[in-house]
Amino acid sequence: MGEPTQELTADVLVVGGGPAATWAALDAARAGADVVLADKGHCGTSGATAAGGTGVWYVQPDPAAREAAMASREALGGHLADRGWMGRVLDRTYANINELAETGGYPFPTAPDGSQPRNGLQGPEYMRRMRIRTRRAGVRILDHSPVTELLTAADGSVAGAAGHRRQAGHPYRVRAGAVVLATGGCAFLSGALGTDTDTGDGALYAAEVGAELSGMEFSNAYGIAPEHTSVTKTAFYSFATFYREDGSVLEGAASQGGRSVIARELLAAKVYCTLDRADPAAQQAMRLAQPNFFLTFDRLGIDPFSRRFAITLLAEGTVRGTGGIRIAGDDCRTTVPGLYAAGDAATREPICGGFTGGGSHNAAWAMSSGSWAGLGAARYALALGRAAHTRPVRAAGGAGLRPTGRSGGADHREVIAAVQGEVLPYDKNYLRHGGTLTGALRVLDDTWRQLRAGLHGEGRDIVRARQAAALAANARWMYRSALARTESRGMARRLDFPDQDPAQHHRIATGGLDEVWTRPLKEPA
Ligand SMILES: Cc1cc2nc3c(=O)[nH]c(=O)nc-3n(C[C@H](O)[C@H](O)[C@H](O)COP(=O)(O)OP(=O)(O)OC[C@H]3O[C@@H](n4cnc5c(N)ncnc54)[C@H](O)[C@@H]3O)c2cc1C
Repeated sequence: MGEPTQELTADVLVVGGGPAATWAALDAARAGADVVLADKGHCGTSGATAAGGTGVWYVQPDPAAREAAMASREALGGHLADRGWMGRVLDRTYANINELAETGGYPFPTAPDGSQPRNGLQGPEYMRRMRIRTRRAGVRILDHSPVTELLTAADGSVAGAAGHRRQAGHPYRVRAGAVVLATGGCAFLSGALGTDTDTGDGALYAAEVGAELSGMEFSNAYGIAPEHTSVTKTAFYSFATFYREDGSVLEGAASQGGRSVIARELLAAKVYCTLDRADPAAQQAMRLAQPNFFLTFDRLGIDPFSRRFAITLLAEGTVRGTGGIRIAGDDCRTTVPGLYAAGDAATREPICGGFTGGGSHNAAWAMSSGSWAGLGAARYALALGRAAHTRPVRAAGGAGLRPTGRSGGADHREVIAAVQGEVLPYDKNYLRHGGTLTGALRVLDDTWRQLRAGLHGEGRDIVRARQAAALAANARWMYRSALARTESRGMARRLDFPDQDPAQHHRIATGGLDEVWTRPLKEPA
């Protein structure tokens, strides 16, 4: 017999422990809900924000500044963003950041001219404070407690979740009126800093209860990092000159608008760079803004402003890419009642269209969508009342939990290696071509069939099995959507369809598990 299951109840269960989850938990609690937050890691130190520094889309409410902010990425995103959402996110982000400064005690630095720029946050300090604030609001935090599946009520609405308490070594269940999925994106265990818990679990769980995804073709983000390291702080490479192995300049290579040149060169050779276009003032500002960027260099004894160092590109999938669970309302509800989504787990198309939200939009989306999802979930759950805790529930998990064939016929390590073999290589995922995508999807579909039939884990291995299943599911939605977009728009660039096609000015929904489908979303983008 296994360990007994710990049973808990809550109005709102928030799954995740990053900025989206903590803002969701905080705002749900402030709306009067009894809230449990369950994190795979330790809330406050897990996820993509906690490990680094983050720029934030914090723009003063001055009409000209706001207009410029909204216009800045519209064309890059293939005109798939929505001005209404952009305005809402700018307002919410402005309010949340000011609250952090004024009542949250976040120590924004003061510039020499006396101003206090609030468009950047140090991840460790930010997330430490969010954890404290969340606890003070009465939220019960379950650290090291990955959720492994959702629970549904008889009418198909989401009624809680089940998971595993890693440190205590037993399973647990939370019956809740509503659930917020804020599990981050999927970086395919590529090694990018802070993304080791970001395995796309939320998207898998959402699809298992019938929710839709959107924008998955816009999920081929790759960040530049010094070779053999994990810090993908790509923005600073706008100061770089890129070189071939023989020391000649790699023409056309750039952090923005020239990354494919780097990817092509890396297929056959090493690429080097120096941040030699940063003047002393910029160098100083960079160190102040992102101290963790320099840790790697300081440890290696490299001055990145004067010495050449080898670089690589690390996949960041939906962490800095854009696709995720489709949002079906202003309160970040999904297409399934009782289920809400926020942060990287949700599609960011409303504010980014088909472009990355890297550098500022992602952080703004995480805190704004988190606040709305928490509030929306609280209202929904409070309307259901305590009756929600005694509803009969059904466990919704499939792949990796309940194999359809002989258990043990698939190994989570092999599944992960197979998925990575199709999504990490630049010539498959970055330099996309229909032929390559079709071949890769065939392998991924086979991998899915095998894992669906035979992948299963016990105890901690349940979590590993579910992560492997989530990677495979995310990869298949990504490539099926990439094949459905027979043009180049935003990040979804196709070598065989290099031009934008006005007839494809729409978002693409996807979903399904054994059978993955795509469908153009014809509502106005
Ligand atoms: C190197 C790097 C630099 C970046 N810089 C910027 C920047 O300058 N500006 C910007 O806007 N964005 C930036 N981003 C993106 C930004 O970090 C993310 O958009 C942001 O962290 C999203 O917040 P989130 O809460 O949705 O996800 P995360 O912060 O990734 O948190 C996800 C949380 O979910 C938990 N979780 C996952 N699965 C489960 C599960 N099954 N059960 C329970 N919990 C689970 C994880 O443990 C984690 O706590 C950067 C990303 C990287 C990798």
